[in-house]
Amino acid sequence: MTPMQELTAISQECCRLNEIESLLSWDLETQLPKNAVEGRAAQSEIITKYLHKIRTSPRMSQLLTQCQADIELSEDERALVDIMQWVYDRISKIPEAHSMLESRLTTLGMQAWVEARTTDDFSRFAPILTQLFTLTRERAELIGYTGHIYDALLEGHAQGMTVELVDREFEKLKKVLIPLIKSRMQQQKTSIIGSEFDVTMQKKFGKYLLQTIGYDFDRGGLGTVRHPFMTDLGPQDKRVANRYSASGFHSFFSALHEGGHALYEQGVAENYQQSDLSKHFSLAIHESQSRLYENIVGKSTEFWMGGPYQELQTHFPTQFKPLSLAQFIDHIHEVRPVMIRVDSDELTYDLHIIIRYEIEKMVLTGECEVADIPQIWNQKYAEYLGLVPQNLAEGCLQDVHWSIGAIGYFPTYTLGNINASQIWHTFVQSHPTWRADFAAGNTTILREWLQTNIHQYGSSVHPVALLKRLCNEELNSDYYIQRLTERYL
Ligand code: ZN
Repeated sequence: MTPMQELTAISQECCRLNEIESLLSWDLETQLPKNAVEGRAAQSEIITKYLHKIRTSPRMSQLLTQCQADIELSEDERALVDIMQWVYDRISKIPEAHSMLESRLTTLGMQAWVEARTTDDFSRFAPILTQLFTLTRERAELIGYTGHIYDALLEGHAQGMTVELVDREFEKLKKVLIPLIKSRMQQQKTSIIGSEFDVTMQKKFGKYLLQTIGYDFDRGGLGTVRHPFMTDLGPQDKRVANRYSASGFHSFFSALHEGGHALYEQGVAENYQQSDLSKHFSLAIHESQSRLYENIVGKSTEFWMGGPYQELQTHFPTQFKPLSLAQFIDHIHEVRPVMIRVDSDELTYDLHIIIRYEIEKMVLTGECEVADIPQIWNQKYAEYLGLVPQNLAEGCLQDVHWSIGAIGYFPTYTLGNINASQIWHTFVQSHPTWRADFAAGNTTILREWLQTNIHQYGSSVHPVALLKRLCNEELNSDYYIQRLTERYL
């Protein structure tokens, strides 16, 4: 066996282990009995440990060195070596003791977060959060960076993104969003649609939406959970999970969102599906696919005109029959600043992200202490969104992320929005008849175009190069700003 063959076999083994781990989580989220949670955690831990051992083994290091030096490798082999090297570098630089401490702290962090939320007392969470930030800072130092310490964290979620780039684009966005939201609020008329949305019908309609955008149910499935997600359970199994509430119809848009994620993974070339080239995506690019379907396609008149609106009226006659398509479109564009990020609308969403990003940077660089977070949080919410949280649960303790040590991850949501508009702009240029096509019920042109230009490559092309090649430029929020301004001004 050549080193490349051995490395490929290891890559396949690691991917299967990843998928087994995801399957355990899928079951945990969708149907695990309450008393089995602890047992499940033990099972997941074994897989994670074993995977870590393979990925950081001396043999892995040797094989990577040998393959890096092999000038005979094909382009695909080279891409696989590069992505495995990237994974190896990020994991192997962190001593086991550090990883173990981080994982123990995240369990404690979650408990402390729940306690602090219930009692509305930040001091119950602050000591652990301080330690989590300290460990994150140490991890960033171990991984290394050339510019800002936050760059080391960004690189883990969205390869090639730096504070310099993100600051530049987020500032541009912020400057437009704050006044745009204010002016929109002053002229907007609000409407109310129905009151109850039968959950069984929502599930049916969500499935219909997924089929409409081209999600392949023979290579996936739809589950019910508390927080929607998409997961990779194998080369032929990319599942979607959605949440439903009878008091609204947000599930339609989360179906499109998770569907966008799933189309990406279902679209990865067959020969990459077995290896690491079907994993380790840039979350900024991944999120661009979900946001594109949720907000750009899913909130366009043309998409609904092409069949879905008629279908919606059939599924929910009392709520939607009295409403014209134009009224429905106006309704789904209503802007209402709220305290909770996950409940926010398209226009206000990014300010929630920018606030978290700014605070994370401040704490990491020592510009403020963890104890100052609630006060800074409230100040920023008042300044950007005109809202003042009444308690920690609707303020800085609303998201679980920090308690599990996910620091440096939030910006990928807004990066996804920015990338989605850049990608859409390029699509529109190459498909000037898209409006007529969508209105005739043909969105396949978009899925096929995305598959050809993005999906098929998996992680074989660096995300920065992928965007550059497709859109002819790097991260640029101008198209996103333009789209939001046209839609909401
Ligand atoms: Zn997403």
